[in-house]
Amino acid sequence: MERAVVGRFAPSPSGYLHMGNLLAMLLAWLDCRAKNGRLIFRLEDLDPARSKQIYIDALAEDLRWLGLDWDEGWPDPAYAQSRRGERYAAAFEFLKEKGLCYPCWCSRAERLAAASAPAPGEEQFDPGCRCAHMSREEREHRFESDTRTPAWKLRVPDREICLVDGHYGLLRQNPAREGGDIVICRSDGVFAYQLAVSVDDMEMGVTRVVRGRDLLDSAPKQKWLVETLGGAAPDYCHAPLLTEEKGKLSKRMGSLSTQVLRKETSPEALVGKLAFLCGLRDREEPAKPEELLRNFSWNTIKTEDIRIG
Ligand code: GLU
Repeated sequence: MERAVVGRFAPSPSGYLHMGNLLAMLLAWLDCRAKNGRLIFRLEDLDPARSKQIYIDALAEDLRWLGLDWDEGWPDPAYAQSRRGERYAAAFEFLKEKGLCYPCWCSRAERLAAASAPAPGEEQFDPGCRCAHMSREEREHRFESDTRTPAWKLRVPDREICLVDGHYGLLRQNPAREGGDIVICRSDGVFAYQLAVSVDDMEMGVTRVVRGRDLLDSAPKQKWLVETLGGAAPDYCHAPLLTEEKGKLSKRMGSLSTQVLRKETSPEALVGKLAFLCGLRDREEPAKPEELLRNFSWNTIKTEDIRIG
């Protein structure tokens, strides 16, 4: 039997949404609504240093302004990652008991420890470190002699993980060779994005993850992690990115933020523009999201990134 569709928006309040975020969210909404699915709005505010209240406040307003609705989620605090620490701690314990985690005292681990989704180029290859190969005695000794709290890393599998992305097709990745072990808990106790997103998608019953292609490389790891935690991995479907001369649009660079867009354009004009840019419509004309639902198909959507500036 086919699973009932559950989709999600999972923005991080580390900046105002930009046009690329809005395109990914419009496609997540269309994908879910076209299948009569249930849509969740999850707040990915895991990183205390990057999450700001002004951005949290703007997120829901911006999505509503664009005409995108959801069925459950934020502002219910049960859908904010910052309030779900106990769930991540339980998953972490489970992975530790399976012998998949090891403490890491290297400063490099801290640099790799991302509590937010990796920006392009940010996800670095971890060639491994001595901490991965310590004996039990060595570790115990280190815990006693080193006053610093270690980060914790997850041992990823040295085998190929395959998945079929709904838009980009077959993906094969050997996580150990193409990324290396991942930090799942920083030394300050903040859990990493890869753990939180996998636990949330699993526990919230998400069946379809639609998001920007910059996270394509994370999908095989997340599929493996959800399955290792005993869940059913969602289907992944990635969307092309909007780019400008300096690369992918980025919240951190303040690119074309909703704050600017909302002053300069109407929601219908913006939805129409996004639909045209990504290949959903062959002419640029104002539209409401629900008008794009009829005939919605990934077949007409571009796979290559879309240059807008
Ligand atoms: N929170 C991430 C972002 O805003 C998205 C993570 C995901 O969809 O898995 O880029």
